[in-house]
Amino acid sequence: MSGEHDPNCIFCKIVRGEIPSRKVHEDEELLAFHDIHPWAPVHFLMVPKQHIASMAQVDEHHAAMLGRMMVLASRLAQQEGCAPYPHGGFRLVVNTGDHGGQEVHHLHMHVIGGPRPWLKG
Ligand code: 5GP
Ligand code: ZN
Repeated sequence: MSGEHDPNCIFCKIVRGEIPSRKVHEDEELLAFHDIHPWAPVHFLMVPKQHIASMAQVDEHHAAMLGRMMVLASRLAQQEGCAPYPHGGFRLVVNTGDHGGQEVHHLHMHVIGGPRPWLKG
């Protein structure tokens, strides 16, 4: 489903302030907020304010928004404390559909970074 908002969608509720979140960034088109169950020292989510279910629904009309999301993710990752490239860095993850591990069906990008203690060295 795609539209301005979905009243049953948890991330639409966060966008509208109906569910509280710890915001990292907000503008007219995008919202970034900390993941409630972080996998790493830096872990926030970026969502379009408009309800788009997943990457399976996007087309060329979304290209500029998706581009902004990528550029902003890089800037915010570094602002939020990811160490500099190449020894630091971060991961951008967009789970899509059940086989892609997507649990919340409002398009979102995970921005994940920080030391990974399970890796040696
Ligand atoms: P997915 O598996 O769909 O890619 O990831 C959904 C993410 O949303 C999970 O990492 C989960 O912890 C996060 N999440 C689910 N519900 C909430 C919530 O109410 N608030 C916040 N901040 N994160 C949430
Ligand atoms: Zn939504």
